Amino acid sequence: MVKFLNLAKLYEEVREDVLPEILEVLDKTQYVLGDKVAAFEKDFAEYCQTEQCVGVSNGTAALHVAMQSCGIGPGDEVITTPMSFMATTSSILMCGATPVYVDIDPKTWNLDPAGIEKAITPKTKAILPVHLYGQMANMESICRIAQKHNLLVIEDAAQAHGATWKGRKAGSWGDMACFSFYPGKNLGAFGEAGGIVSCNELLAARARSLRDWGQEGKYNHVLPGGNARMEGIQGAVLGVKLKHLERWTARRRDIAAMYLNELSGVSRIVLPTVAPEANPVWHIFAVQTEDRLTLQEELKDKGIDASIHYPQAIHELGCYKDLPFAQVSMPVSEHHARHELSLPMCPMLTDEEVMIVVRRLKA
Ligand SMILES: *Cc1c(COP(=O)(O)O)cnc(C)c1O
Repeated sequence: MVKFLNLAKLYEEVREDVLPEILEVLDKTQYVLGDKVAAFEKDFAEYCQTEQCVGVSNGTAALHVAMQSCGIGPGDEVITTPMSFMATTSSILMCGATPVYVDIDPKTWNLDPAGIEKAITPKTKAILPVHLYGQMANMESICRIAQKHNLLVIEDAAQAHGATWKGRKAGSWGDMACFSFYPGKNLGAFGEAGGIVSCNELLAARARSLRDWGQEGKYNHVLPGGNARMEGIQGAVLGVKLKHLERWTARRRDIAAMYLNELSGVSRIVLPTVAPEANPVWHIFAVQTEDRLTLQEELKDKGIDASIHYPQAIHELGCYKDLPFAQVSMPVSEHHARHELSLPMCPMLTDEEVMIVVRRLKA
């Protein structure tokens, strides 16, 4: 059996180091925020080449709190990609703002900067690109357009811990950037967690307040916030796991290189294109193929776990498709959603397992 993701093996690698850290949190009864969260915030901000990190309860909360910090609300438009997990759009709606979609680049599958300027209106407040599958969007072009039109940039970096564009890390390009530490992400907690990074002191201070009922000192509610605090245990786990991230990412890159190399001649499989400026962290290894459900079934019969990210573009989702903002045609995203298949990708995969997948696909 070649697993898509092996959480048990990842746990084994850190168990010995994590357990005493968790015990320390419990012994100090620092169940919410506390020393371990603060220490992780400092380390993760540095890892992302940013000044500040605000630990929150999950990646969706990170997006919501970041947009709130930027003052995004009813009447505002946020330009984003329809090819992502639903959370990218749902967080815009949670702020009362309206998502405006720009289609993806047919090669990198990330938000295509060429379509952004046409989508800008007097209501546009921000651009929310996603670094899909761990490859950064073209942040140079996106930030240039944002600057020209006086727009904010918020990165959805939930799949891109440590990815770079021209050597600069995901999270360090936008006004704010949002990470998920869901267990299956490249850096995963033992439960729910997320983080916001920023080099803007004012925005980071707002996020810090907004995650904790908008307080500045106990019961002094200066912002209309909610509860999006990170748990102490998750801070302790993430602090330990961050030390392993570069090694795990290197392994993902080795696996991706094997797939790219071994599958390059296989007709009927479209491999991902890496922009020359990008160094992806391969959260997901996505390919396109005509009859992906048959292929997925055939792989499953041989014990190989392939997955789909995502079966529909966001504007096509049942809960959104009848709403005004979803009345758009996004042909590149829609085509991708019909043909995408995600091959097993996890730092714990052995070379032999990767070759099992490769041989099955070749056959
Ligand atoms: C996982 C993910 C999120 C949401 O993060 P949660 O921690 O699950 O709330 C948002 N955006 C993208 C692109 C994601 O992959």
